[in-house]
Amino acid sequence: MSRLTAPLLAVAALLLAGCETVPVSGRSQLILIDDSDISALAAGEFAKMKKVPNDPRLAKVREIGLKIIAAARPDDSARVLPTPGRWEFAIIDDKTPNAFAMPGGKIGFNSGMFAFTPTDDDIAVILGHEVAHVLCRHGAERVSQGLVMAASVAVADQATRNKSESTRRAWMVALPAVAQIGVMLPYSRAHESESDKLGLFFMARAGYNPEAAPAFWSRFAAKGGSKTPEFLSTHPADTTRIRNLRAWMPEAKAQAPAKR
Ligand SMILES: [Zn+2]
Repeated sequence: MSRLTAPLLAVAALLLAGCETVPVSGRSQLILIDDSDISALAAGEFAKMKKVPNDPRLAKVREIGLKIIAAARPDDSARVLPTPGRWEFAIIDDKTPNAFAMPGGKIGFNSGMFAFTPTDDDIAVILGHEVAHVLCRHGAERVSQGLVMAASVAVADQATRNKSESTRRAWMVALPAVAQIGVMLPYSRAHESESDKLGLFFMARAGYNPEAAPAFWSRFAAKGGSKTPEFLSTHPADTTRIRNLRAWMPEAKAQAPAKR
């Protein structure tokens, strides 16, 4: 047994053990950690954030968020979404147009996001997308990918033990970069695309107009609003995203509650 066999087997075991299926998209994903571990970390981060006290817009965000969560629950086969009463909402005192939903049930809506969301339908676009990230366990998946990357670096370190120092250094630099390009980026695009699709369904089921989604993203891109953490680099190109949203529109509209 070479000295490489053990660490390689360990990585293989990790990959096999952690394979789960994303609801609706059916994509296989690697989940190596419990959502509860992420929830605890997320709660700590959320507690530290600067929130706008008594913001009158908070009630609106909560109302829309709770409708979206109720609409999302039928797709939550892994039961990762907390029950509606356990979700916490806050307006974050930050001019960056951004928003997030954390595993464990924390939703933050930056004060700077409101300039892009004049209607309830627009807020539903954002919250649908964010709740879908939680339901699909994208956070746990990203952490898991990071763990595999770290394990791969350890394997390469073993593999090149007898090689020259320059070869070793080249490997150590190249591996995370290759993993970044080959795994992280496409995966992240898959995450964004899954969240766009599910988010569109959730908002339609909750009674909001899904046509607001492509309109929001066009507007957001045109105003340069995409230069923000959640909403950039890893997101699909704006034209692709809008084309996809249009393609999913009939399916989304078919899920809307019947008008009385
Ligand atoms: Zn996203």
